[in-house]
Amino acid sequence: MASLSDLPIRDDLRGQHPYGAPQQPVRYALNVNENTHPIPEGVARHIVESLARAVLTVNRYPDREFTELREELARYLGHEMTPEQIWAANGSNEIIQQTLQAFGGPGRSVLGFPPSYSMHPIIAAGTGTRWLMAERDADYAISPETAVAAIEAQRPDLVFFCAPNNPTGTPVALETIEAAYEASDGIVFVDEAYAEFMPAGAPSALTLLPGRERLLVSRTMSKAFAFAGARLGYLAADPAVTDALRLVRLPYHLSAFTQAASVAALQHAPEMLAMVDDIAGQRDRLLAELPKLGFRAFDSWANFVLFDGVDDPHATFLALLERDILIRDVGLPGALRVTAGTAAETSYFLEALAELGPGGA
Ligand code: PMP
Repeated sequence: MASLSDLPIRDDLRGQHPYGAPQQPVRYALNVNENTHPIPEGVARHIVESLARAVLTVNRYPDREFTELREELARYLGHEMTPEQIWAANGSNEIIQQTLQAFGGPGRSVLGFPPSYSMHPIIAAGTGTRWLMAERDADYAISPETAVAAIEAQRPDLVFFCAPNNPTGTPVALETIEAAYEASDGIVFVDEAYAEFMPAGAPSALTLLPGRERLLVSRTMSKAFAFAGARLGYLAADPAVTDALRLVRLPYHLSAFTQAASVAALQHAPEMLAMVDDIAGQRDRLLAELPKLGFRAFDSWANFVLFDGVDDPHATFLALLERDILIRDVGLPGALRVTAGTAAETSYFLEALAELGPGGA
């Protein structure tokens, strides 16, 4: 059998690793920050009806401009967003990829602030974009001064923020994004995959869009919206940005089924998002309980919590797996990340972790 190194693969992909969240059938899957609540049955029925209608015309290509979906997404986002400002793709991963295809690529660079979403450097590699890194401040924050200093030192073509940040849960202040925009003449990309879990009233980078044509804000239906399996990510930006993305997208990239299911789900946004407050409550419970078990939990605005003080993260990861709980070893020293799920899931996780203790035995 041939191995990867036997293939005439691009030199810049040799030695790279694919996205690696383990996939394992477990009872308590708290590893990839999904909404663990199933979608309401009434909404499911409406989605199926929409899919049934879509299948009758599936001999034809879908709407290449996904017009109805963009209208629904604009309505959902609010902030006086127009459909012309919206773009969508198969997950926000594809949004990131199309952004780098259009604005990055060979000879260009993108700056990130690790630890952050592990796919950012992987998609950079896949698109031939040079990956640059800058350090964060204490507790994973990024001050305006830190962002500006990194941009001035490295002059990237794109800057990536993740707000709130995966895997730490840390918010990014709007002042930091504004300052980064001023300091750069490239694209500033804010990955807001977890925005719906932010505290009520916390402003999104969407509020910064007017007058900033190089600012891109991405969102996803995979997290709060409980729609990870459908694969729908989207972006809000100046209409010129969506014109740029049309140059790199594949024609008809959003299938008729993706469009039909997403439109139907968005028409039930309040029901789809009904569990968000509960989930944020479980996150706050994790933030309160983990220190009582001897761990340090990092303040989180997302639906997960990073905690450290674990003697051997991999051993604890495996011991939890033996108890049918899958969480995430994100490769940070002494740390693990857990998704906030239902109250029952959180209880089960906390009880198992209490039994194991920081030693993990
Ligand atoms: N951005 C961040 C910060 C994420 O954590 C994730 C998923 N883990 C994504 C983007 C991608 O999500 P999707 O492609 O499902 O929209």
